[in-house]
Amino acid sequence: MAGHAAASTHRPADTIAGLLRQAAQRLAVALVLDRAGARIEARALCAHALGVEAGWLLAHDLEPLTAAQAAAIEALIARRERGEPVAYLTGTREFHGREFAVTPDVLIPRPETELLVGLALQMGPADRPIRVLDIGTGSGIIAITLALERPRWQVSALDVCPRALSQARANAARLGAPVRFLLSDLFSHVGDTTFDLIVSNPPYIAQDDPHLGRGDLRFEPVLALASGNNGLALIEHLIQTAPSYLDRGGALLLEHGWQQGEQVRAWMHAAGYHDIASHRDLAGWSRVTAGRTLS
Ligand code: GLN
Repeated sequence: MAGHAAASTHRPADTIAGLLRQAAQRLAVALVLDRAGARIEARALCAHALGVEAGWLLAHDLEPLTAAQAAAIEALIARRERGEPVAYLTGTREFHGREFAVTPDVLIPRPETELLVGLALQMGPADRPIRVLDIGTGSGIIAITLALERPRWQVSALDVCPRALSQARANAARLGAPVRFLLSDLFSHVGDTTFDLIVSNPPYIAQDDPHLGRGDLRFEPVLALASGNNGLALIEHLIQTAPSYLDRGGALLLEHGWQQGEQVRAWMHAAGYHDIASHRDLAGWSRVTAGRTLS
């Protein structure tokens, strides 16, 4: 059979398995990844270049690749070697069991935000149409997940960046989430609507934090990552302004930096919030803080 004969004359690197092995080695060296991590990335990029699921690669690992396919894979591996995040190269990232489209206009979804979403899901009654607002929605992961997990909730989401907002809208449309989107610089265009729950994963990294110059963060929108006053400027502002937009007994739930919990609780206390509590992420850091206004 012609196909078979062709396959047997290919050098190992021309098969899927060979190419994956080479790619994983290159990524391990360039990005200082362990073998398992490098293999996962190589597989994700290879699958994306070929337009298949990662699982498909395992079942077809001895198949030869065309020159065009090999070139498409090479282009992605080379970009990853230079540091571009996998999520931007493949254009997707999973969050809470769903695939979200992501571009360099929005932050890449992170596991710590699962904590915020998990707490938000517990904070309001599932069977009542409470009003929820997500501030700085980015790709929309928080608002969309809440809307899909709590169909009775009325979820709104805002962002100051029009390109981020269109990304969030597209994700909501594709996933069928009935979220109301608003172009707004914090509360500037919220009007006199009030909410039972306000959630946010705001920028909270200090502007001079060296982490901004490393890894994935170099490619992410700095607007979504960094804030003044050691990363706390926007958080302080949210704590101070949110009560005007919360119903009596409404809650504010904020993601913040691993060393910011104490300051966040102190500001909430000074602003008159009650039931203030910080929660730890999977890595054990105090990462999300909640407070309620008086009922
Ligand atoms: N959790 C992110 C990080 O530390 C930052 C996200 C944010 O600023 N909201 O990389």
